[in-house]
Amino acid sequence: MGCTSSSAVENLLPATGSKRIVCFYCGQNFAVDEYQPHVDGSCKDDMLAKVSDVPEEKKPVVPTPPDCNVPTAESSDEDFDKYNNEAISKLKLFVVKCVCGDDIHPRQYAAHIADCKKYKAEQKEKEKKEKAEKKDKEEKKEGETPAEEAPAETTEAEETPAEETPAEETPAE
Ligand SMILES: [Zn+2]
Ligand SMILES: [Zn+2]
Repeated sequence: MGCTSSSAVENLLPATGSKRIVCFYCGQNFAVDEYQPHVDGSCKDDMLAKVSDVPEEKKPVVPTPPDCNVPTAESSDEDFDKYNNEAISKLKLFVVKCVCGDDIHPRQYAAHIADCKKYKAEQKEKEKKEKAEKKDKEEKKEGETPAEEAPAETTEAEETPAEETPAEETPAE
């Protein structure tokens, strides 16, 4: 038995003819007049808040809106389906890669890691390592004589902009 599959993202398409629009951030669907306020509201931030403790390099990439126009009350069912399908394909990429290999949408993240044995095992391992490292450091510190206390300032990692230095070499006259 592995992690539970993330199939919750699969069945997000509202019934054809329901005139509901899928949010490309969270996957919930909304009536035409509710949709835009929802998307412009806090949905994106809410989703990101759910994965706030995910390390930077594993943070999910925030999706951009579908390219087709947002359906209106006058739009055809095909237009709704088209938009919704695109929204769903976008939000399928709005995921955190778990150590177990599953792609987890922010909405399911908390529930997933609470249940994922691999994730838990890794966290435990990490904690152990961090503790060991801390202990190691403390032991080293105690052995050292407090002679130098000048904090080395090495934080100034300046990003030198790539200058357009023409690599022209003036020919020797
Ligand atoms: Zn949403
Ligand atoms: Zn997992």
